[in-house]
Amino acid sequence: MYCKNCGNNINDNAVVCPNCGVQVGEFKSTDTQKPSADLPQKGNAVGIVGFVTSLVGALFGLISLIVSTNILMLIAIALDIASIACSAVGRKRAKKENASFGGLSLAGLIIGIVFISLTVFFLILGVIMLASVGNMF
Ligand SMILES: [Zn+2]
Repeated sequence: MYCKNCGNNINDNAVVCPNCGVQVGEFKSTDTQKPSADLPQKGNAVGIVGFVTSLVGALFGLISLIVSTNILMLIAIALDIASIACSAVGRKRAKKENASFGGLSLAGLIIGIVFISLTVFFLILGVIMLASVGNMF
């Protein structure tokens, strides 16, 4: 690079121009001088897994409601349980260790709870309806 003060061609890693002594680059300081907000957040794979699982569970839940298939409902419920568990762990990590994807974990948690309630409700409703239909004949 070139010094902004004297135009001398200097090393790209130089912080101070060797020709005129003007500061030309950022000091590559240690992380301790950076504000904590700039610190890279810890990964939170479990939070992403929880969120993705909640979406898949929601998809299975919706399909199972449309075609009213009990096996799909059970798969959806299993996925919802997994997503709630993963999202809860992800959420805890995000809060305790400042890990990333706290928002996604929370979304996964909410989606998981909403859809497990919905799916269980319709599963029970389906069983009751099936039982009442069975009684009719
Ligand atoms: Zn210079």
